[in-house]
Order: sequence, then structure tokens, then C-alpha cells
Amino acid sequence: MRATIIYKAGDVRVEDVPDASIINQSDAIVRVTRACICGSDLWPYKDMPPTLTGRKMGHEAIGVVEAVGSEVNKVKKGDFVVMPFAFSDGQCTFCHEGLTTSCIQGGFFGYSEGVGGAQAEAIRIPLADGTLFVLPLREDNALVASLLTLSDVMATGHHAALTAKVGPGKKVAVVGDGAVGLCGVIAAKRLGADQIILLGRHPNRIALAKEFGATDIVSQRGEEAVERVLKLSGGYGVHCVLESVGTEEAMLTAVSITRPGGAVGRVGVPHYSTIPAWEPTFYKNITISGGPAAVRAYIAELLPDVIEGRIQPGRVFDQIIGLDSVPDGYRAMDKREAIKVMVKP
Ligand SMILES: [Zn+2]
Repeated sequence: MRATIIYKAGDVRVEDVPDASIINQSDAIVRVTRACICGSDLWPYKDMPPTLTGRKMGHEAIGVVEAVGSEVNKVKKGDFVVMPFAFSDGQCTFCHEGLTTSCIQGGFFGYSEGVGGAQAEAIRIPLADGTLFVLPLREDNALVASLLTLSDVMATGHHAALTAKVGPGKKVAVVGDGAVGLCGVIAAKRLGADQIILLGRHPNRIALAKEFGATDIVSQRGEEAVERVLKLSGGYGVHCVLESVGTEEAMLTAVSITRPGGAVGRVGVPHYSTIPAWEPTFYKNITISGGPAAVRAYIAELLPDVIEGRIQPGRVFDQIIGLDSVPDGYRAMDKREAIKVMVKP
């Protein structure tokens, strides 16, 4: 089968690899009907040191179950499923608490040892009963783009909003206008935010953010952006900040625009070693929360809004490519020519 492998920064290849197959009896094999390229895939694309073996890429997919191991009971051949970016057993203490990304037996697609990537024709799903979410739909439906976002970006935007304590009447800021930031706007609106300020600079993304519910746009950076957000939010900053970038600059902006007693929900994979501005963060009683989204635990809550058309996160996809064009897809996202690229193997 064909699959995507990155060998070093800027070097993404689609190659022939052995077919995905059942290794453990709790596995399933999913034929990928749609996958995508994630903003977090751009980190290795920018800075991965050269390797001989490479790393299999892709952690977002929807698809159809082709085979299951003898211990799989809840998922069966032919099911149309969402694959969350992390696998989880659904049975341990953290899965029961809804934090499936901390599953004791779990791990991450396209990252954990021995687990493949989703930018491929098929993928082996460990712990299939706990991991896969069976959709009550056929694979050829009009909602595929939005369903695909339930494997990561929409659920991650929701996680940012929850950990930033978004609720009715809250003033919210979203740092970053990538797909996760845009889904964060959807999530903040869905949870009843009063004001949603998007910090972003790309005209097409800003336009989409406004359609998703952003009430204000701040396109400045650094201190200018902070001043602007304070002014827009009545002088004290916002209650809730969704940080979807992961750089030190973005995090510094996030804590600087949070009002006393507010919270930052960070979902951008951090590329800093210490949280900036710890001292004002302490004196302002700011909660810093967030982390990898517990996607598997959120799908059931978000799915009805997708099915009934109340949210349309699939609109973040502005390019559709075949599997062999995946290297072009990385290039387009890295150059900000695409918001998010969908892959149709
Ligand atoms: Zn678990």
C-alpha cells in the first residue's frame, strides 16, 4: 500500500510500504477514505533532523473498517468510523475520567513506536474497541469534511475552549488563525461566548472566522496586539484565551491578554521550554490549562451538531488532493497557501 513518510525537514515522500495488517487481536484495519495534513505536521516539516528510516505521517482520518482481530467486539467490518489522533483502550482510569490522551495503554498515530500514519491507503488501529467511533452514516455522505475534523481539529478547538473555561457571556480570544484556531471560534460560539476576538492576519482565514462567529479581528502582533485586545475587551483583557499556535510569542500574547482570574487553554504543540510571563500569570491568578485534546471523549457530544448542520467545521478544508500529492499539500500549508488540506487516498 501507499503511505506518507517524512525523512527530514522538507522531505516528505509517498512510498510503497507493507500492507497494514492485524498484529494484536485488539486491532482493526481501517481503509482510509479521507485523511488530512495537520498544522502540527508542519513542525517536523520545518525542523526534523535527517533519519534513515523516516517517520510515518498522519493522525487524522475517517474510513471504513476492513478487518478486525478476534478480541474486537464493538467495531465490525464495514463500519464507517472516525479515528481520533490518539488510540485508547476506553477502560483505564483516565479513559473513564474522559482524558483519553492519557490512556495507560494508549499512544499517538504517526508518532508512537510501531504505529502507522493516516496519510496512507490504510492504517492499523490498536485497541480498536476503545479507539474508533462508529458513525451512524454511510461513507458517501455530504458531511465527510466536517466528520473528518472530529478526528482532530474540531475536537481540539473544543478542548481549547473547555480548558479556557468558555461559557455563556464570556469574552474570548483565539490566538492563531489556522484550522484549530478557526474551530476554536466555532467551539467558543457553540459554548455561548459573548465576544470572540480572533488574532490572525490572513484575509481568507479572517473571513471564515467571521462566518464562524468571530466578533472582532486583531491583525497586529506582539505588544500592539495585546493593547488592541485590551481595548476591545473593555480594558482588562478577556476571560478565556484559546492558544492554538504553540510558539513562545503566541503564549506570551495569550497570557498578556488574559484578565485576572481568567484561563488559557493551550492546544498548540508547545515549542518553548518554560511558560512565559510566569510572574504576571501568578499575580493575575491565571489558570494555564490545555494539552492534547481527548478527542475520543468529545465526538459523541459534537457529532449531533455536525449531523444537524449547526456547525460546519469542514469548511476549514480549502484544498483536496490525492495521496501521491501529499508532498505538495505540505508545501501549500507551510507557505500558508492552504488553510487545511484534505487527502483522498
Ligand atoms: Zn485508557
